[in-house]
Amino acid sequence: MSENLQPVPDDWSRALAIVAHPDDMEFGCAGAVAAWTAAGKHVDYLLLTRGEAGIDGMSPDEAVKVREEEQRASAAICGVESVEFLDYADGTIEYSVGLRRDLVAAIRRHRPELLITFTHHDITYTGKWNSPDHRNTGRAALDAALDAGNRWIFPDAGEPWNGVKYAAVAGSTSPTHAVDVTDSLDVAVASVEAHAAYLAGLGLPEGAARGPLEGFTRATGERFGGRPAIPFELVKF
Ligand SMILES: [Zn+2]
Repeated sequence: MSENLQPVPDDWSRALAIVAHPDDMEFGCAGAVAAWTAAGKHVDYLLLTRGEAGIDGMSPDEAVKVREEEQRASAAICGVESVEFLDYADGTIEYSVGLRRDLVAAIRRHRPELLITFTHHDITYTGKWNSPDHRNTGRAALDAALDAGNRWIFPDAGEPWNGVKYAAVAGSTSPTHAVDVTDSLDVAVASVEAHAAYLAGLGLPEGAARGPLEGFTRATGERFGGRPAIPFELVKF
């Protein structure tokens, strides 16, 4: 953990985030998204589920509406252009050719140069076992970025787009790059707090988001010139 992190490359203008659940971006890397949009970059969100299985004390029928609203509000706080949901079932996302096809269609439509996703590895940065939704979504998103450029793979899923240069993988145990969030930390905290029902469901009191986020970005900064930062594992295409 001693090696310095490199700045995430800046030679892109459009990003698409593909994650499994509402809150994956906020707990992963919303501070970086806020920094990017403040710098004039275009970021869209694509969520595979509406997070209906995410609140123990709330039925999926109710949670589906609450969590969509919270995600839209949270994304707006970070300057995100659009939020789209694919309506996969929360908790049972399988890695499949069908999922790859759906993600290829989205990548060809949005034409991003940067893909953002949450870690596809077995273990997350917390040292704990990752959820199958995150693993399968992350892996399918990375594979789809490759597929999207080949006109003979999923020919009915839009015009080929081979412009994805990088994927920035949040939540990784082996980050290589980082984004300075000195000026976007308050926005990042607000974007987490926008998930009020979810945080309440976790039993977290109001104001509980700031401390861990500040601690995490400060710890990352120890490998990034002392500036508070969000770490990513950078994958090249
Ligand atoms: Zn998640």
